[in-house]
Amino acid sequence: MSTWKFTRGRYERLREFTNFGACIACLEEVHDAEPDVRERVCPQCGAAKVYGLEELLLMGHITIEEPPALELSLPLALVVSDFLANWYTIERRHHDGRHWDEQVAPHALALRYSGRISDADVEGSALEMRRIASAIRERSTACFRRCAVDATGDPVEFWSPRNSSERGRVPLADAMALAQEIEEKLGNG
Ligand SMILES: [Zn+2]
Repeated sequence: MSTWKFTRGRYERLREFTNFGACIACLEEVHDAEPDVRERVCPQCGAAKVYGLEELLLMGHITIEEPPALELSLPLALVVSDFLANWYTIERRHHDGRHWDEQVAPHALALRYSGRISDADVEGSALEMRRIASAIRERSTACFRRCAVDATGDPVEFWSPRNSSERGRVPLADAMALAQEIEEKLGNG
């Protein structure tokens, strides 16, 4: 019976930044309902069936999709930019190449791409990529504007300090393989 499916991150953003609510009769969404609103009159269909976010969750109309468990293996690839000189992206080696828009707030769409290891591109120059590789080798950290790694633990985390709100987590073995690929393609830092 669930009508709305949100990721945990999107649900938290809706709760924090909006007054999302919805009519369970006609599915009209409203943006001025406190989380505990019940049985308010719907501006669309007139039924007293508008509920706030937390009520919708309690009633089972919202399902929160938990992020998938950490994958046992998540091979990465260093991808050379097609249109920028000296620019590289760290991506999943295996993905289906999809691009899509995801609504992250009532009036905000985010472009998603199935190759991403974070919720934004992890990208940078050759020098930055070599530093990323070194940090993985040394089990340390490196941080630049659009690419960063924390290899002090396992899994290793990758993100874009400027654009990511969630970090990608990759088993150490796959991060080590990426470091080797970076060094083979770009040389040692
Ligand atoms: Zn309605």
